[in-house]
Formats: sequence, C-alpha cells, structure tokens
Amino acid sequence: MAEPPCRSHDFSAGYAETYLGVTTAVFARRAAADRQSVLVEGVCPRCHGDTATEYRHGVPGTGTKGVLDRLRQARRPSPQDEDAVLLAEVHFCECGHPHPDLPADAPWVGCGASWRVAALTTVDQA
Ligand SMILES: [Zn+2]
Ligand SMILES: [Zn+2]
Repeated sequence: MAEPPCRSHDFSAGYAETYLGVTTAVFARRAAADRQSVLVEGVCPRCHGDTATEYRHGVPGTGTKGVLDRLRQARRPSPQDEDAVLLAEVHFCECGHPHPDLPADAPWVGCGASWRVAALTTVDQA
C-alpha cells in the first residue's frame, strides 16, 4: 500500500463530545443558492470527515441555529459582520457518519467534536 492520504475520514473514532479549541484549518463560508443561509464547510479536525453547517438568516422555527438573527436587528449584515459571528461560533462535527456510540438523541450526526475556526475563506458562487 502507498502512504495513506493525509486526510481520510476516521470512521472508527468513537463518538465523544470533545471541544478542540480553535482549529487552524481553514473553513469556507458559502452563501446558499437562495441567499437565505450561509454554509460553513470544512474538514472535522477530529474525524477528518467533510462537515458543513448551515446558518439560516433569521428564519425562526426551522430548527437551525439562529446565530445570525442578532445581526438583523437594525441593518443588513455585511459579510464582515457575518464572519465575525461565524468565527465566534462553536462549530460541531456534522460529517454525517454515525460514529460508534453515537447517542440516539445526538443533535448532529458526527463524531461529537466541536471547535472554533480561526479563518474563513469565501466561496463565491457565479
Ligand atoms: Zn468529526
Ligand atoms: Zn466523522
């Protein structure tokens, strides 16, 4: 076998609610097609699975996190405002793989890791 890829999803990592602190991995923010939400995409620092978290703009009752709501109060949020909120937010692994010992009531399907991101790149959609 050749060397394993530097990035491979560790499916065998058991679920553990672990706060990893600020990760140096760069995450990307992407405006959803309907402009109603922002996706933060990257690779989980713990299990190395692809993860994406959706933050909706002020749509109550959709079950997603309303962290951007506070930005809507007086003015339209700028991308810089959104970045500031997203950088302050704790992100959770949503790699979609049911890791071993995943609780039935886990809020997200992933390995249980959480982290904050040090930097966001913006993915422009043409
Ligand atoms: Zn993970
Ligand atoms: Zn995973």
